[in-house]
Amino acid sequence: MTDNADVIIVGAGLIGLSIAYHLASKGISNVIVIDKEGVWGHGSSGRSAGGVRLEFSHPSAVKFSQYGLEMFRHFEDIFGISSSFNACGYLFLTRDASKWTVMQNLSLMQQALGVPVKCLSPQEVASQFSYVQMEGLVGGTFCADDGIADPGAVLYGFARRAIDLGVTIRLDEQVTGILMNHNHIAGVKTTKGIVMGGVVVNAAGPYAAAVGQMAGVEIPVRPYRRSIYVTTPFSKLPQTIPMTLELETTSYLRREGDSILLGMSDPHEPSSYHTDVDHQTLEKLIDTILRWVPNLAEASIMRGWAGLYEVSPDDTAIIGEVPEIPGFYMANGFSGHGFMHSPATGRVIAELIMGEEPFVDLTPFALARFNADRPTTETFVI
Ligand SMILES: Cc1cc2nc3c(=O)[nH]c(=O)nc-3n(C[C@H](O)[C@H](O)[C@H](O)COP(=O)(O)OP(=O)(O)OC[C@H]3O[C@@H](n4cnc5c(N)ncnc54)[C@H](O)[C@@H]3O)c2cc1C
Repeated sequence: MTDNADVIIVGAGLIGLSIAYHLASKGISNVIVIDKEGVWGHGSSGRSAGGVRLEFSHPSAVKFSQYGLEMFRHFEDIFGISSSFNACGYLFLTRDASKWTVMQNLSLMQQALGVPVKCLSPQEVASQFSYVQMEGLVGGTFCADDGIADPGAVLYGFARRAIDLGVTIRLDEQVTGILMNHNHIAGVKTTKGIVMGGVVVNAAGPYAAAVGQMAGVEIPVRPYRRSIYVTTPFSKLPQTIPMTLELETTSYLRREGDSILLGMSDPHEPSSYHTDVDHQTLEKLIDTILRWVPNLAEASIMRGWAGLYEVSPDDTAIIGEVPEIPGFYMANGFSGHGFMHSPATGRVIAELIMGEEPFVDLTPFALARFNADRPTTETFVI
């Protein structure tokens, strides 16, 4: 079977579906999204903690978040389904004096962009967020505009509206090769046939490197398991708490209804495609988080799940057209920020494909930064 499309998108996760929606809303609807799984959002997008925040280390990333936050706030008006955005805020904590200096400097850049972030002394943290263990705390930043939204609803909204606008989503079909005509993209080969088209977008999440290889491009994105746990209903913490994160340990918690949702990135865990939930990871998380939220000692874990972060070497996404291969676009390596950055990524990829100036400077996301040894340093990594 051979089909034709103006744009072929590999991956029906948040990124691929946002790109499809943004293209279709700009009039490019002969778009085919292909996913190897039987349902959309089966990859990382279905495992996200739903966090949305404006604190990043580079203005472009802040602007990405601002676009996403605004879309999540008004999601129902655009997509007919609420994103369930809850502005509970984000509280970043640090016990490292040099990191605190960096955070304070970055808050000036963020404030200049309109982010209502506040720097809090340990005493201010203690008086506003009494569940945090103060020992060794150097400071924290709090942004009341941040919060949590429902990735499943957002995914559904993107998919539904894209389909309504004429996009085709093909499931249970794996892209196995990328067709080239000299150095130009000509289409893709799949387990079900050929799709011809001059534009291919790699939105394959943790599989981005494998899809890049099909076109001979090295995309430095690797999969890492990340686990999340949810307690039984728990009343020993306030009913309203912000997403609260300790930067040094990457451990975090937030409310999930009456329960508490907990997570942490383990820096010693090797790259893999495993998504099993194991006891060892849970024990490490509990040991770590009890040191700074001692009240959790009385909590019981009810359930847990794991998914894959698609991690780039500098924890910043890789977005743009591959210069050597016209028609091959990357939207990869979101390193734990792909839910909140999915709306803006969809918009800029659609703008690039249509030959428009992207609404945000994409230099920090360029693949070329790795060869030039100019990484985009990110402080707020969880
Ligand atoms: C535990 C956890 C918590 C997270 N919390 C947050 C958070 O709080 N906030 C936030 O912003 N982000 C968070 N993230 C990150 C976010 O979920 C991801 O960055 C985002 O979902 C990436 O979306 P994606 O579409 O690129 O990838 P995916 O959702 O993985 O989609 C890629 C798709 O490509 C398909 N695919 C791959 N290869 C092929 C092929 N050859 N042919 C066809 N199809 C293919 C896959 O089947 C998959 O469906 C979290 C992630 C995890 C795992």
